[in-house]
Amino acid sequence: MDKPSLSTMDEASLSNALRALDAPAWRAGQLRTATWQPFIGGFGDVRQLPTALREQLEQRVLFSAVDGAVETEADSGNTVKLLCRLVDGLTVETVAMETPARPGSRRRSTVCVSSQVGCAVGCPFCATGRAGLRRSCTAAEIVDQVRTAAFALHRRGLGPATHVVYMGMGEPLANAAATVESLHVLVDHAGLSPRRITVSTSGVVPGVARLAAEAPPVRLAVSLHAATDDLRDRLVPLNRAHPIDELIAAATRYAAQAGRRLTFEWCLIGGVNDTVEQAAGLRRLADATGAHVNVIPMNRIEGSEWGPPPAEVSRAFLAALRGVRVTVRDTRGNEADAACGQLRALLETRREMRADGTLGPPRAPAPTG
Ligand code: SF4
Repeated sequence: MDKPSLSTMDEASLSNALRALDAPAWRAGQLRTATWQPFIGGFGDVRQLPTALREQLEQRVLFSAVDGAVETEADSGNTVKLLCRLVDGLTVETVAMETPARPGSRRRSTVCVSSQVGCAVGCPFCATGRAGLRRSCTAAEIVDQVRTAAFALHRRGLGPATHVVYMGMGEPLANAAATVESLHVLVDHAGLSPRRITVSTSGVVPGVARLAAEAPPVRLAVSLHAATDDLRDRLVPLNRAHPIDELIAAATRYAAQAGRRLTFEWCLIGGVNDTVEQAAGLRRLADATGAHVNVIPMNRIEGSEWGPPPAEVSRAFLAALRGVRVTVRDTRGNEADAACGQLRALLETRREMRADGTLGPPRAPAPTG
């Protein structure tokens, strides 16, 4: 019998589980609080519970759907990349980023979660897309990435997690049921404000409508990457099913209903989508929707001829966006081998994860040709 996951159990199922163990239902509150404490890594750490009850819960309830994680640090320790192992042995990437307080802005810790193991969208510039889709994550696997990352931050004297972005591996709205359930857990149980959660989509239009109907009013980011359908058909193959006009209309409706500003994500790829004509198209879309634009210079991935544009091309692209709210995102973690979609690919091709969660020695790359 599969054990239920602690983080996604509702109050009734938590109380029932306790009752079945002859424990009072009020223990549910203690358990719920402990679930979201970043210093608690298992039932054994929940000291308020009697030892026997902790042992019984261990047998019947899954404390975390993330079974272990390999951690690498970047950005002087302010970024922690986790390769999270799920109970069936598959792995997903999670990233935790600490941004220290600055004049005018508070400290924040953002956790970037994966919603699927791999991805079926197949964007050619993305390492995750190249590997295809293995399966979708459950809601528990999504929220337990946040708990695992919060635990990793806490051990470093960082955190707690203040923001969550669904921008890791996978297309969250191709896994809409689990995504919506996980959003409710993060808001209702973990106490995160919907304003501090962002779901990023490559353009699953029916999923945007479902988000509007069923989810808390979180922020929506659209991975645009191209301002014309001919280019976007190549960069985000899902565009052939849901072209730009349809996507922008759905995203605009969502933003109006949720009362949130839209964000456009633009991975800037040298010689591909870095022209001033594309910038002008992006500017028109941003002006029409009031969207904020995040420009992310592409990380070069192994085996791909694509990479970031030269500095002068980036400058011209950004100059053509003058007047639009633009953030150029630093691709944190380059020094630790990876950004989104790349950590797992590198580990899978070069190293093996041992059963205890540590990494084996690097292997020579497979011969080619
Ligand atoms: S960029 Fe996003 S949607 Fe495209 S293949 Fe990668 S993970 Fe999937």
